[in-house]
Amino acid sequence: MQKTGLYWLGNDLRRHDNHCLLAASKAVEHLLIVFCVEPQWLSMGRYQQTRMAQHRRRFLTQSLYQLKKQLAEEGQQLLVFAGDPLEILPKVIDQYQVSHVFRSLHPAFDEQQQWQLLHSSVDALSTTGRIEWHELDNLSLINQSDMRRLTGLDNLQPQKNSLTTDFIPSFSKFRRMVESAIKKQVFTIDTPSCASIPLPKPVALSPSNYAQLTKYWVDDIEHALGITSVECINRDADNIHVNAHNTNQACHEWLNTTVTSTNDEQAGFFGGESSARDHLKRYFSDERAHQYKHVRNALGGWENSTKFSPWLANGCLSARQVIDALHKFEQKSERSDSSYWIFFELLWREYFFWYAFYHQQALFRFSGIHRRRPLTSFYPERFRSWADGSTPYPLVNACMKQLNQTGYMSNRGRQLVASCLVNEMKLDWRYGAAYFEAQLIDYDVATNWGNWQYLAGVGADPRSTDQGGRHFDLKKQQQRFDPKGVFVREWLGKGASIEHSDSAIDHIDATGWPIQ
Ligand SMILES: Cc1cc2nc3c(=O)[nH]c(=O)nc-3n(C[C@H](O)[C@H](O)[C@H](O)COP(=O)(O)OP(=O)(O)OC[C@H]3O[C@@H](n4cnc5c(N)ncnc54)[C@H](O)[C@@H]3O)c2cc1C
Repeated sequence: MQKTGLYWLGNDLRRHDNHCLLAASKAVEHLLIVFCVEPQWLSMGRYQQTRMAQHRRRFLTQSLYQLKKQLAEEGQQLLVFAGDPLEILPKVIDQYQVSHVFRSLHPAFDEQQQWQLLHSSVDALSTTGRIEWHELDNLSLINQSDMRRLTGLDNLQPQKNSLTTDFIPSFSKFRRMVESAIKKQVFTIDTPSCASIPLPKPVALSPSNYAQLTKYWVDDIEHALGITSVECINRDADNIHVNAHNTNQACHEWLNTTVTSTNDEQAGFFGGESSARDHLKRYFSDERAHQYKHVRNALGGWENSTKFSPWLANGCLSARQVIDALHKFEQKSERSDSSYWIFFELLWREYFFWYAFYHQQALFRFSGIHRRRPLTSFYPERFRSWADGSTPYPLVNACMKQLNQTGYMSNRGRQLVASCLVNEMKLDWRYGAAYFEAQLIDYDVATNWGNWQYLAGVGADPRSTDQGGRHFDLKKQQQRFDPKGVFVREWLGKGASIEHSDSAIDHIDATGWPIQ
């Protein structure tokens, strides 16, 4: 009997250096490549916020289109379904007698749960015999077995009696551990795998033979993701075109203004693997990496940091591909403190990946991994002003406007607005994290919630144990990073002041009376 595989895509929307595609290509003759648009992404989530706002959905849509096109060129097919994967995938597995299921190892609690539930429910119902389940290292730099060896932990997930302190307590310790292992050559980061093996054939699908699945089938990805027509442009490196049914005037106008936009964040971030590969190539084609460490903290400016994050978060690019490009750059143009710092920052990403994998639900807990409850709460008016960018702090407002308009914010900006939410506004950090989750085009569950915990003093920051979270002095930060107010005025308008306004944070008191 022929072997049929199912590859359930997630944050791994790429053809190259994709361990799942490689493994499937070796194991099966036919392959279904499936992406599920989950209804919960578009509905109200926890903390009274939608899980995925427009910018994130747009980037995801673009990424799916590029993958669809790439797969079609190789005779394969991207199948997009809208609905709960736990409802859809068992039907697909049953209908097509799937013998192998592939998925990238995801670190976070919900995704782990989904995988385990799918596994157990399908196995319980299976009449066709044993299915092979493959959850593969595909999103991180370090794989599970190396991580076990490096940490000495037999199990990288919490056990009944395990302690928070069983996992590497700080980033510094993690970094030293990884760097020393690389130096002693007990561990190497894999080079990216190439896409030379042809993909297995798709399974013949026609509307008549998938009666059970028609109601989930999605032809129109942007419609499924609630994207308005002018935003669903499909662009690749040298061939810009608009989806057939959207060739209206407005769409062309938008395309022209976007591509020539002076707003780098909008012009440069375009979802998909070919855009990611172009950007990676361009970044290392000049000497930018030698300046990185000195400019990475800037609040604005396309060139000041790598801007790899949205493509990494959606898996259009792998961290291994970035490291490989970095090493090639260093071989050609020497290694500098700055170029090394790109690796350093990618280790932060890696740390939070394994941190999320280890701590599971505790990643989202108000009291964090140490079970220490911060003295903050939820005040709707304060939260609204923070999210809208109408606090008394111009620097925070400018960063929030940038986020709301583009779906991106610099690392320094994220630190400042998070510190403001926790320390000035005294708000529950999880509302801030959930707001970022909805807005950021580079939203990554481990990195986002891990960084928020860190800033709120309930995470992996060794300083937080006895001194609370990180509190940035907003006036000093303004002086240091935007003394002339260029960034503030870019987002708040020409006449904006950089001085903190006298207006109070609250306009009503605890009983609902207006404050004079
Ligand atoms: C409160 C808060 C929330 C954040 N949420 C996210 C998120 O959801 N997704 C996300 O990708 N990054 C997040 N970051 C980390 C960081 O701000 C972004 O990765 C970075 O700004 C992206 O821009 P860049 O690619 O130009 O970064 P660069 O400075 O060029 O860094 C290169 C890469 O290193 C990694 N990196 C850099 N800084 C960090 C960091 N602090 N933690 C982990 N990895 C890092 C990213 O993968 C990044 O693409 C968050 C930071 C804070 C303070």
